[in-house]
Amino acid sequence: MNVREAVLTVDETQASFLEQGPSLTERAARTAAAAAADADAVDRDARFPHKAFEVAREQKLLGVMIPVEYGGFGASIYDVTDICYTLGRACASTAMIYAMHQTKVACVVRHGHGIPWMETMMRRVARDQWLLASSTTEGQNGGNIRASAAAIDHAGDTVSLVRDATVISYGAEADGLVTIARRATEAAASDQVLLALAKDDYSLKQTQGWETLGMRGTCSTGFELKVDCPADRVFPESYDKIHAQTMTPFAHLCWSSAWAGIAAAAVTRAQAFIRKAARSSGGQMPPAASHFTAAKMSLAKLRALIAANLDVFARAEHDERALSSLDFQSSITLLKVQASELAVETVMHAMRTAGLSGYRNDGEFTMGRHLRDVLSSPIMINNDRILANAATSTLMSGVPLSLRD
Ligand SMILES: Cc1cc2nc3c(=O)[nH]c(=O)nc-3n(C[C@H](O)[C@H](O)[C@H](O)COP(=O)(O)OP(=O)(O)OC[C@H]3O[C@@H](n4cnc5c(N)ncnc54)[C@H](O)[C@@H]3O)c2cc1C
Repeated sequence: MNVREAVLTVDETQASFLEQGPSLTERAARTAAAAAADADAVDRDARFPHKAFEVAREQKLLGVMIPVEYGGFGASIYDVTDICYTLGRACASTAMIYAMHQTKVACVVRHGHGIPWMETMMRRVARDQWLLASSTTEGQNGGNIRASAAAIDHAGDTVSLVRDATVISYGAEADGLVTIARRATEAAASDQVLLALAKDDYSLKQTQGWETLGMRGTCSTGFELKVDCPADRVFPESYDKIHAQTMTPFAHLCWSSAWAGIAAAAVTRAQAFIRKAARSSGGQMPPAASHFTAAKMSLAKLRALIAANLDVFARAEHDERALSSLDFQSSITLLKVQASELAVETVMHAMRTAGLSGYRNDGEFTMGRHLRDVLSSPIMINNDRILANAATSTLMSGVPLSLRD
């Protein structure tokens, strides 16, 4: 069926599916089991984790955040980040793809109410388990998301766009795409809009491969993105608002949770190593056991940091003023920096716990994949770029006067 002609109604059975069927935790566990079984092959062959997403679709995991009235489960940010963590423990690429997809879904859900096309999109994500990709990186602009080179061109009821999309993870596998663009040819680089597109609204021509150290299953190839679509694909709200209220909080919370999952998987392996080593030497701890304690401590810090930011976001979620406050923006922006550094630190300690057994690429305690995957975290929007941009706002935001406020 042509997407543009699709007339969809809410599937009543879908809405009650969660009540009768397995819980979100069980659904995530089933998907994680499939992802874990395929993780080494996905990494080795740098291929999309098809098996994990087959199960994710069966379990209706892609549409969990869609409100019940549009056929989803109305899951919260807590639910979604928990799923990212669970998947991260199994397969980093699966978790990161899921995290990116949910970030795009959040934009459609939070800024698409009352807009017929966006509501259709919500229904397709819930009913047909559409997977949405993301295009923010452009040309030589790196992670400078708040400036776009390519502009949309308006012609009557349609718009067009040609974009040098340097990196679109799982672009070839996605059913739709959410992209930023300059509002019009005469607009400033920072005057941006967001578009939510179905697959037949655009075409992709591959321009770069994805032969990387880690996160190989995200298949984040470069494309020339050509868009030709009805004008209702453009969100009426300007991108700066969507960026602050939704894109950044969801991206940073979901990514951090996926990275925490990778870190937790490495800690699990390190723990198993210590136990085995101690058992085989009459209870004597291996020489690098203190690294295990350090790994546990940094994982605890990472989880606490995410949990604190989750609570703050959940409290402010529907309060525009609170979301735009300097304190919130500063905290949610720096979450990404801190979480990625802690995730790398945790995996490094875990690997050093296991020594050669962690370093080698074979055996039950190998942690090479975890380390390679987690090393993507500080550069996925470069931490140094974020810190340089945050310098002024950090200076302006206050120092807390009490411990808990
Ligand atoms: C696993 C993973 C998945 C990702 N998925 C997506 C996605 O789905 N969609 C998306 O839009 N982005 C995606 N990204 C990209 C990410 O969002 C950032 O934009 C990107 O990591 C920043 O890259 P950078 O280090 O090149 O840029 P920055 O560190 O921000 O900037 C590097 C700067 O160096 C210069 N430069 C870079 N390369 C060259 C070169 N070859 N020659 C000369 N100068 C150069 C440029 O001036 C550039 O501004 C993904 C990244 C990762 C790691």
